[in-house]
Amino acid sequence: VKDMGKPERSVVTTCAYCGVGCTFRAEMKGEQLVRMVPWKDGKANRGHSCVKGRFAWGYANHKDRITTPMIRDAIDQPWREVSWDEALSFTAARLNAIKAEHGAQALGGITSSRCTNEETFLVQKLVRGGFGSNNVDTCARVCHSPTGYGLKTTFGTSAGTQDFDSVMQSDVMLVIGSNPTDGHPVFASRMKQRLRPDLNKDGGAKLIVIDPRRIDLVKSPHIEAAHHLPLQPGTNVAVLTAMAHVIVTERLADEEFIHARCDWDEYQDWARFVSDERHSPEVLEAVTRVPAADLRAAARLYATGGNGAIYYGLGVTEHSQGSSTVMAIANLAMVTGNIGRPGVGVNPMRGQNNVQGACDMGSFPHELAGYRHISDDAARALFEQDWGVTLDAEPGLRINNMLDAAVDGSFRAIYIQGEDILQSDPNTKHVAAGLEAMDCVIVHDLFLNETANYAHVFLPGSTFLEKNGTFTNAERRIQPVRKVMEPANGLEDWEVTQELAKAMGLDWNYAHPAEILAEIARLTPSFAGVSWEMLEEKGSVQWPVTAERPEGSPVMHIDGFVRGKGKFVVTEYVPTDEKTGPRFPLLLTTGRILSQYNVGAQTRRTANTAWHPEDMLEMHPTDAENRGLKDGDWTRLASRTGETTLRVTVTDRVAPGVVYTTFHHPETQANVVTTDYSDWATNCPEYKVTAVQVMPSNGP
Ligand code: SF4
Repeated sequence: VKDMGKPERSVVTTCAYCGVGCTFRAEMKGEQLVRMVPWKDGKANRGHSCVKGRFAWGYANHKDRITTPMIRDAIDQPWREVSWDEALSFTAARLNAIKAEHGAQALGGITSSRCTNEETFLVQKLVRGGFGSNNVDTCARVCHSPTGYGLKTTFGTSAGTQDFDSVMQSDVMLVIGSNPTDGHPVFASRMKQRLRPDLNKDGGAKLIVIDPRRIDLVKSPHIEAAHHLPLQPGTNVAVLTAMAHVIVTERLADEEFIHARCDWDEYQDWARFVSDERHSPEVLEAVTRVPAADLRAAARLYATGGNGAIYYGLGVTEHSQGSSTVMAIANLAMVTGNIGRPGVGVNPMRGQNNVQGACDMGSFPHELAGYRHISDDAARALFEQDWGVTLDAEPGLRINNMLDAAVDGSFRAIYIQGEDILQSDPNTKHVAAGLEAMDCVIVHDLFLNETANYAHVFLPGSTFLEKNGTFTNAERRIQPVRKVMEPANGLEDWEVTQELAKAMGLDWNYAHPAEILAEIARLTPSFAGVSWEMLEEKGSVQWPVTAERPEGSPVMHIDGFVRGKGKFVVTEYVPTDEKTGPRFPLLLTTGRILSQYNVGAQTRRTANTAWHPEDMLEMHPTDAENRGLKDGDWTRLASRTGETTLRVTVTDRVAPGVVYTTFHHPETQANVVTTDYSDWATNCPEYKVTAVQVMPSNGP
């Protein structure tokens, strides 16, 4: 990043990368961003940042940025640059015609966890109130939808239970399926602060890591995990069941807490289930490949070590048993009484900056804002009255269902804001087939992404530097996003959606995102006390913000669970249908790296790419030697779904039989090889388990 000289003004805003939600002072000279300085008063970051938030903002002015709307009649025709008026009337005419000919169920939309709460709220409002269907989904479908199902079922609401500060009061941290050092770097530093014996008078918290890879946290300067359980990918539920078996059979359960706070009959059913000898660590060792003694020791430490805090990520959710794993984690927290006070809890590490907010805002086809089911007559009536429309009481289609229906011919048009589904969703061929079958694909984004190859309309998007609104981070903290510069395309994203709604004949007249936030607060009980003015005054606030809790809620479920009694759910381990065999003997799992972000649309267009210019395949030395592969060699990675080419990194971070890659570069297209298997409850794709073969290659 070049030094652009002394700034003339600065604006405090929120990072648009990960769910930590660091705040920055954006320093400006004229209309040029000079630098991003981590803000000392930011409650999520307290003056710290990582390389993405601090340095990876150059994409905002990248030459690839599209700032003029474009349309075309068919995807084999060249794009035609047009005015906003022409683009929006072209789009509205197509959508209205498809609705008239094929009905409301032929239309749908996808909201983005990269966009603000207000933008997301408007997209789902357009789909429900304008298109007339509940066919709205969000990119959380492919990451944290099992969190939505699992925590709603067990606790009553879909959110992390603690604030970040709470980690400083933990005595035991259990990190499962999450690599905080790469995925959530600033919060990882807080964790390390509490884990380091040299920085804590009481010796610091103890650490349990459950992950197929030896992630950095397992052993880093001054830190060594008490237990690393390098499980076979796909066996999370078996590991957690074995731990529960130890806790119940060794009488380590907190029965006083369970009696007071949970449904006792359900607990007894669950306790009988986990106590069965077939769930002992000694029996399940064969499934998990984790030594029984380690499973027992980890369970004892979590149950008896004081305040136990669980942090989990996509290594939990992106499995055929993702929702079961989330519920198994909730069971573990409840049986040990680790809920409802600082230092404990169940904390999903949200990947994208606003995945919590996108879920809160009613982006799922079965839920209105605030996690109220679409079949709830009273909730629907509230929205119907406010919006002056009639809402469908039936849940709509999920992303994968929309694509299936497109191939079948019953789904014809989609509005996609801020997501590149061709690169990010599993089984690329199937996504392409669904998009190709549609009559109208609208991509609203910063760049001509891979999905735009199948689009008829491209609506240029605005960056986080060019808009006002709010993001909600992984600790439910609602934070302002403030406009630093004028949008290069002339409109903020919420304005684009509003103009499209108007072109379709809807009477929308928001003058500022503050008015959208006021509508959200009016219709969403957990946001009831939130307002733009309040955020300007306080800086941020954690939902629920209600009459009883006007200052917000750093810790949830203090006096009782949102659902009343905590619910124990029996979670039987069911092996995935994705099996290794002679043709595909290795298991592939995927993840992120610090300097890049997801499909890399932003970070690949910054200097960060120098640190991670291509995706690599990690492989154990034994597996590499068996294939004649040396560090840096090209390999062909093949699965039953497809194949790709990438270089190998030989490392014992992964166990024999397991390989690992990132998915940041479109040249690799890692999702060409991932399968159609998905979570039984939510269809979250099983990215973390794919049977593969790896062979030498001459390169792409
Ligand atoms: Fe942005 Fe996350 Fe890095 Fe903070 S930790 S600067 S929110 S990417």
